[in-house]
Amino acid sequence: MNRVRKPYIAGNWKMNLDRSRALDLIKTIKGRLGDGNDREVAVFTPAVYLADVSAVAQGSPLGVGGQNLHWEQQGAFTGELSGKMLREVGADRVLIGHSERRHLFHEPDDWMGRKVRTALDCDLLPVLCIGETLDERSHNRTDRILKKQLESGLSAVQATETRRLTIAYEPVWAIGTGEVATPEQIAAAHALIRKWVGTKLGGDAAVTIRILYGGSVTPDNVKGIMASPDVDGVLVGGASLKPDTFLPIIEFETRA
Ligand code: PEP
Repeated sequence: MNRVRKPYIAGNWKMNLDRSRALDLIKTIKGRLGDGNDREVAVFTPAVYLADVSAVAQGSPLGVGGQNLHWEQQGAFTGELSGKMLREVGADRVLIGHSERRHLFHEPDDWMGRKVRTALDCDLLPVLCIGETLDERSHNRTDRILKKQLESGLSAVQATETRRLTIAYEPVWAIGTGEVATPEQIAAAHALIRKWVGTKLGGDAAVTIRILYGGSVTPDNVKGIMASPDVDGVLVGGASLKPDTFLPIIEFETRA
């Protein structure tokens, strides 16, 4: 398949693994990765493992990211991390607005624009996660929810910055459930996102921005998902925790 944008395969380790398993996994991935010219691969690790994981990844094209950040640089924000802190321990990117942050920890939409802005200002590559719940989909509110999340998440982004920004479409009902969105649902959501970016930030931004799909991606379904129009990569949770499942996703073209 001739792709306009470089495929981006990302693993979200969430609050999983321990230090030794995290280091084993990153060493295995690094060992299998080529020069990084044909795809971008990254892992979003628990913050306490960032320094060690990024030390292993150093010198390779592997990206290493945090799973959240606060928009302030310092202050009385117990339990939070600033962009500068993430950079200091070797992160080069960060997840923003993952559905678990939005729904389990009640992070509101209007935080996301500030977080994206801060990430860009700190020289971190943000991956803004958006997606509808099952209830929202069943009430035909998917388009409205995605536009609302785009509006707030991209509120402070310039058109020229879309090369450094990635959007992950992750239907909440598909995350960790084994239920994957259909090719039609994925194609429709990704087309809506790209069109929205084009309308707000211009045609060049729409062509350059990468849009990932996330939600129960496995070695068996990755090739079909990657063939879907407007899909530039995948954000993988459960299947990113083991080489047996993550490596075949990274090498998705070779799947039968
Ligand atoms: C995720 O957490 O972003 C995710 C997509 O998880 P899973 O692949 O386990 O559904």
